[in-house]
Amino acid sequence: MTDTAVDTVTSVPVAVIGAGPAGLMLAHLLGRAGVDTVVVDTRTRHAIETTQRAGILEADVAHDLVGTGVSDRVLRDGDEHEGLELRFGGRPHRVHFKRLVGASVWLYPQTDVFTDLADARARDGGTVHFGVTDTEVLDVTTATPRVRWTAPDGTRHEVRARYVVGADGSRSMCRDLVPGDRRTRYGREYPFAWFGVLAEAPPSAPELVYAHSAHGFALISRRTETVQRMYFQCAPDESPEAWSDDRVWKTLQDRVAGDDGFRLQEGPVLEKTVLRFRSFVQEPMRWGSLVLAGDAAHTVPPTGARGLNLALHDVKVLAPVLLRALGREGGTALDDYQPQALRRVWRAQNFSYWMTQLLHTPPGGSAFDLRRQLGELDNVVGTPAGQAYLAEQYTGWPTRAH
Ligand SMILES: Cc1cc2nc3c(=O)[nH]c(=O)nc-3n(C[C@H](O)[C@H](O)[C@H](O)COP(=O)(O)OP(=O)(O)OC[C@H]3O[C@@H](n4cnc5c(N)ncnc54)[C@H](O)[C@@H]3O)c2cc1C
Repeated sequence: MTDTAVDTVTSVPVAVIGAGPAGLMLAHLLGRAGVDTVVVDTRTRHAIETTQRAGILEADVAHDLVGTGVSDRVLRDGDEHEGLELRFGGRPHRVHFKRLVGASVWLYPQTDVFTDLADARARDGGTVHFGVTDTEVLDVTTATPRVRWTAPDGTRHEVRARYVVGADGSRSMCRDLVPGDRRTRYGREYPFAWFGVLAEAPPSAPELVYAHSAHGFALISRRTETVQRMYFQCAPDESPEAWSDDRVWKTLQDRVAGDDGFRLQEGPVLEKTVLRFRSFVQEPMRWGSLVLAGDAAHTVPPTGARGLNLALHDVKVLAPVLLRALGREGGTALDDYQPQALRRVWRAQNFSYWMTQLLHTPPGGSAFDLRRQLGELDNVVGTPAGQAYLAEQYTGWPTRAH
């Protein structure tokens, strides 16, 4: 495919693979500084907009969406959460972020973040090609990398860029362009997955509920007044089709049950998915004229609600670095990206791992393991330092803290 004829050839300073939050936010930030981009994505806009994913934004991220002119919808349609509930031993324990560390998070679905970013790109005249196939990234070790793709109508296109950003998510093909003997991949697989449920039901709680139980973990979160998002721990090879609505609700009810009589409000299950997860980091995040951002470079288990926030943090660091690299400083400016981005990535890896092992029941775990976990949870909610640690990590770290 590489040197076959194409129908069009254009040039742009930065080409971006992936129209997720990282790719679109980067294009938006560069566009504000007068730098054109071309973004390509294999999925259609409709497919991205209707795929349920993250829902929790750090307050800085929410304010960045407003402050950089993406949209102020998050402040109108989002819900500010000043804490969360940890349930264990059949009892609720509230962790009050605002009181502990003066911070909060915003409940605002990733589908809405995407819509805001895609609308902002369209409004500002940015170029985003959805639904492409056969993406190729060429010549990344030169100063003239190229990206090729096939449009939905079958025509083939090439864009020549100074830099290419691989923001192509957790199954990134861009990260494979860093040669095997020049990259290191750090990772960890988990022996369980999340069963994700979207249900038509009233909210069961005003804030997120993270529930530990002898039956396994469950997370209760809101979407709207009539639609709720919930997860429970399951086996990685679980099949969604094997689960009736009754079985889903019984599993969730068992995991949140307690002395206080707490019960979830039930309703028809609209969507069931199994989400396998892992911890992963690839270094370096830059290879020649290629830079990686977001899930392409690192993924975290969803327990700590960090992935979307990390992706947006990466491009907040990367945009000004790319502007310098496109100016007089040239490519050496890119050396500043990885150290700034990675420090937060590894903090988030640690927190996501910690939350995961704190709340999930390992298959084959002993009675000792369960009681030790309850001891750790008691340490978290029962000491000011434990509560403050959870609050500080969950709400994210100030963007400029290094
Ligand atoms: C169920 C679930 C719940 C989650 N909950 C949270 C949460 O509460 N909080 C949180 O912060 N994070 C959460 N996350 C993680 C969060 O969704 C991701 O970290 C985030 O989407 C990363 O953004 P990104 O732009 O790096 O990648 P993505 O959003 O994955 O975007 C990458 C894009 O690249 C495109 N692409 C891939 N390959 C190619 C190719 N070859 N050519 C062109 N395009 C390509 C894909 O189609 C995709 O649209 C959750 C994830 C899941 C799955």
